[in-house]
Amino acid sequence: MGPSNSILQFLNTIPTPTIVIANLKNLVVRITTVLALFNHGYDSVVNPNPLLRSCNNYDFIVVGGSSAGAVVANRLSANPNFTVLLLEAGGNPTLLNSIPALSLYNIHHPATDWLTASEPSTTSCQACKNYSVQMPRGKMLGGTSSLNVMAYMRGNPNDFDNWAKLTGDLSWSYENVLPYFKKSEDYSGNYPDPKYHGTGGPLAVTPPLDEPIIKDWMSAARELGFQNSDPNAYQTSSEFE
Ligand SMILES: Cc1cc2nc3c(=O)[nH]c(=O)nc-3n(C[C@H](O)[C@H](O)[C@H](O)COP(=O)(O)OP(=O)(O)OC[C@H]3O[C@@H](n4cnc5c(N)ncnc54)[C@H](O)[C@@H]3O)c2cc1C
Repeated sequence: MGPSNSILQFLNTIPTPTIVIANLKNLVVRITTVLALFNHGYDSVVNPNPLLRSCNNYDFIVVGGSSAGAVVANRLSANPNFTVLLLEAGGNPTLLNSIPALSLYNIHHPATDWLTASEPSTTSCQACKNYSVQMPRGKMLGGTSSLNVMAYMRGNPNDFDNWAKLTGDLSWSYENVLPYFKKSEDYSGNYPDPKYHGTGGPLAVTPPLDEPIIKDWMSAARELGFQNSDPNAYQTSSEFE
């Protein structure tokens, strides 16, 4: 065997980035499993919730300790005259759920994801297995916010206006929910317009890290003709950082 063959053989032993990424995913899945089992054991054996035994009746029962449910329960329990029970089907998030960069590795894990998928379709998802797309939903305290990528997105203003129209209840319009979004925020992001953003609320919104990939993404979007603008203001398409 000549020296060039030995070099090739040596190079073949070096994992390609794909193999490294696949191994990282395996590792994260294994660590998540161990941490989830540890959390579950700790909660049910070492740290059972005393409140569940001490109350027979509740003024409010909130189902789902999620982005929405946890906030509703928190707001209701701020009134000391109310008893509130928050029911969550999953356990505590694991340490890895606090790292947004790992969120894509934490999804599709039965300990923390409901593993839901869309119905097979004849018109969409044609490149997907069984013509169905996976739709991850968080199954733990924090709900899907415990496995999402933590980009601050309020939702499309047109959806709010449409809900107001469908329900005949104008309080759902974007203009009318905007004060509550502002009240919830402690905004130090890149678009500090007081018309759309507030400070002093419980939810910190900060600028993203200055990553080279974000600069490339922004310049690609500009090349396609998108405007750099606040995704949480009134417009419904933008590039943003
Ligand atoms: C991969 C991914 C990335 C995302 N990234 C972003 C992002 O960067 N920015 C953004 O703004 N949005 C993002 N989203 C969307 C956002 O996370 C969700 O829209 C939001 O968390 C939904 O909140 P929710 O309270 O309506 O429901 P969920 O957070 O899904 O909560 C439902 C809760 O109810 C619990 N539950 C269900 N059934 C029962 C039952 N029978 N008994 C008790 N509990 C039950 C569940 O376990 C769960 O905790 C992302 C979503 C996904 C899947």
